[in-house]
Amino acid sequence: YLKNSHFIDKVKQNVKVTGARLADRHLNLAVTGLSGSGKTAFITSLVNQLLEANDSAELPFFSVVREERLYGVKREAQPNLSLRRFEYERAMQALDAQPACWPESTTGISQVRLHIRYKKNRGLSRYFSEDALLILDITDYPGEWLLDLPLLEMDFAQWSQHCDQELLSPERMQLAGEFVTLRDSLDLTAKGDELALKHIASVYTEYLNQCRSAGFQLLQPGRFILPGELAGAPVLDFFPLSDVQVQQTSQRGAVKGSNQNLLHKRYEHYQEQVVKPFYTQHFKRFDRQVVLVDCLSALNNGRAHFNDLQRALNWLLTSFEYGKSNILSRLFDPKIDKLIFAASKADHVTPDQQSNLVKLLDSMLHNARKQMQFDGVATESTAIAAIRASQAGKAVHQGEDIQILQGTDAQGTPIRMFPGDVPAKCPGDNFWLTQGFDFPRFAPPQRLEQQALPHIRMDRVLEFILGDKIR
Ligand code: GDP
Repeated sequence: YLKNSHFIDKVKQNVKVTGARLADRHLNLAVTGLSGSGKTAFITSLVNQLLEANDSAELPFFSVVREERLYGVKREAQPNLSLRRFEYERAMQALDAQPACWPESTTGISQVRLHIRYKKNRGLSRYFSEDALLILDITDYPGEWLLDLPLLEMDFAQWSQHCDQELLSPERMQLAGEFVTLRDSLDLTAKGDELALKHIASVYTEYLNQCRSAGFQLLQPGRFILPGELAGAPVLDFFPLSDVQVQQTSQRGAVKGSNQNLLHKRYEHYQEQVVKPFYTQHFKRFDRQVVLVDCLSALNNGRAHFNDLQRALNWLLTSFEYGKSNILSRLFDPKIDKLIFAASKADHVTPDQQSNLVKLLDSMLHNARKQMQFDGVATESTAIAAIRASQAGKAVHQGEDIQILQGTDAQGTPIRMFPGDVPAKCPGDNFWLTQGFDFPRFAPPQRLEQQALPHIRMDRVLEFILGDKIR
């Protein structure tokens, strides 16, 4: 009997070791969103909530914490040494400064790896392994890069025509004056003049940057605004032609070595050597994706900007449309199985408006993805504040109780306000005529020593992304 029980113990032990190995899981989570949508704040908070999960973080909807199965989370060296490291410590330093500052925004791709040790929950696995490890790699990359995917299906003439359409917007045209003059006076048949092209490309980039500062989001090519390691490289020295130029050049055909020929070649190089490699080297590996959308700033900035965000979303979502005819399915087999859309900075509206914010986001996504199929991908939309910078309170207005927000501005002056009602769907003309939506930029909260960052619904996001992987 003794011998037998020894044998069983031994088997159990072996099974446990193998089980633990089998149970090791790896998850590639990607976080994206257009510039300023809150990626840096989001990843900083996500890492902070996980590191503090067993201490000061408030994560009631995160099952592994609620069920007291989380042993601990540690930062580990990132796997891809040629990618920038996500600067978590620097972001926390900014938030811990006196007064607290928002961390510097994302400008390229970066990565952070976490090891999550937990106890398994499944009935059967009791006999295999008690403990398990999830290796979580989080990749942060600019949503602007996703706006480039449709470029793969346009030739230079088609892309130029698309950009010319953009210039029909009077606000954009006003910013594009210098670029348009230079572009229209370029002799396309003349021998390629690298310096002239470089100069016009830099004026075009400046125009895109001004559009961005003015709150526009649909800006292409994506690397012109956030070039990452390509800053200054000749592959970025091209720009779109006007409709008239396109007509002329299509009749004439490009002369080898001419300005026109150089522009064509660079556009094609950009497609092949910049856009495609992002998808085949990085995007291809993502298992799950968070897309942050800053609906509130767009509402704040007015109709043209809101419509622009809507159009940018339409373009951006083509990267997740995995129908058979999709260009990504032709390049490789995408494997994202969960996709979460989050309206960011929800602490800018009172709690009673947050469900409207989710509905608004849904309505924008629905406009964008009416004909889209997310084959085999579970999607979810929510409203979050990665770092909650305001407190909800009550006030009496014209004899009625209303909800208000309280926080401070960047100078430390207290703010008490009702920011306005959020429309529950993409707003029509009336909303813009009578628009009363307005919010200030809150300063980040002053954190007490070692307290987890305050947030709204980050625990639900964690549950959606990780819950099934750490059962
Ligand atoms: P990124 O460009 O996508 O990396 O955007 P950031 O994370 O840098 O966010 C841009 C700005 O949005 C920040 O500097 C903050 O002012 C604001 N922001 C981002 N997340 C939040 C949030 O959860 N709450 C509030 N109140 N502001 C936020």
